[in-house]
Amino acid sequence: MELAKGNYSARAGWTAPGIQLGLVTAVNALARNLQEMESIRETEAERLETLIANMGSGLLMIGRNSEISMANSFFLNQVGQKEDGLIGNPYKAAGLPEALVTLIDTVSVREKPVTEQIDIGTDTGNLTVAVYSAPVIDKHGGWLGIVVVMHDISELIRLERVRKDFVANVSHELRTPVTSIRGFSETLMDGAIKDEEATMQFLEIIHGESERLEMLIEDLLDLSKIEKEGYTLRLKTVNVQDVIERSIHSVSGRLKNREMSIQSDCPPELSVKADPERLVQVLVNLLSNAISYSKPGTPIKVTATATEGMASISVTDRGIGIPADELPRLFERFYRVDRARSRDSGGTGLGLSIVKHLVDLHSGTISVESEPGIGTTFTVHIPLSDV
Ligand code: ADP
Repeated sequence: MELAKGNYSARAGWTAPGIQLGLVTAVNALARNLQEMESIRETEAERLETLIANMGSGLLMIGRNSEISMANSFFLNQVGQKEDGLIGNPYKAAGLPEALVTLIDTVSVREKPVTEQIDIGTDTGNLTVAVYSAPVIDKHGGWLGIVVVMHDISELIRLERVRKDFVANVSHELRTPVTSIRGFSETLMDGAIKDEEATMQFLEIIHGESERLEMLIEDLLDLSKIEKEGYTLRLKTVNVQDVIERSIHSVSGRLKNREMSIQSDCPPELSVKADPERLVQVLVNLLSNAISYSKPGTPIKVTATATEGMASISVTDRGIGIPADELPRLFERFYRVDRARSRDSGGTGLGLSIVKHLVDLHSGTISVESEPGIGTTFTVHIPLSDV
């Protein structure tokens, strides 16, 4: 009786009167088998449950009568819904994203698997998912329902867009100087070469444009080098004051041309753990921008301090400033607030993305504060050296 109730650990007694030994043995063997099978079934059910819960993709099962029979937590997160609102409801009336409902309709009409990429908007944002949906059919051809598996590929799509944008941007940046070089050289060949003054002027333009090309290619190569996985810095203890002095020296030509000056304020003993060449590159980039985006004659200030294991090095200018809504995109490749001005200053639009990468490689951070018309401060935080 216990066995019939499902208690497979029950056993028949040996001593009850009138019970045959053979029957007792057989019943107990059956009980043992049942107990074993039950334990295997439980283990498998547990395994399946764990797999479904942790498979890293959304899973939705729809039963024979179009009702939703199961949804794992990934799926619920992806569509931004709760289990209560889905289970037992017909899939068409459960509030699933429209594109998904259409896809399930297609599977149920065609009775064939369908793979598609769809966009779903939820309260928490937009997702792009790769959906695979297939009919579930038993051995005898009977319809059991539909299964839907969804992978979140939003990050992949974003990276693809960044890559495409990058190619488009590089092509555009390269084309401008090349067009100019070609135009002026053609004009020279068409006869302008006979006019000495014009020839000199055109050659200067051609020379300037080829310098711009060279700078762009150098920045691109530099960026690709430091973005490459496995790129390592030569970290050592570096005196910050030395780095600041070297950086100022390196921009001194442009500084003089624009009648500007840099005042620096740094404790002489301040040292950081850094790759000196790369840290100079960071500061030179920030100083060059401070020079480019300020009026001639205005001062620039470099300040360094130490706080909580980090050194903060700030470059402050009294230049044109950057509107607040432009700040979040500033470190993107080729992002410029004022395209024409950046071009005039010889900028490639890559400077700050190189700076950002280099600072990241130093396990540091960079922040910016700016007010249009007042000025800008970029601050780099780099770990102090241990010694
Ligand atoms: P660019 O080569 O154009 O200077 P960057 O990546 O160095 O490229 O800078 C991106 C953009 O950020 C610049 O085009 C400019 O619009 C803005 N910017 C950078 N530094 C400053 C600054 N100190 N003051 C004002 N605008 C700045």
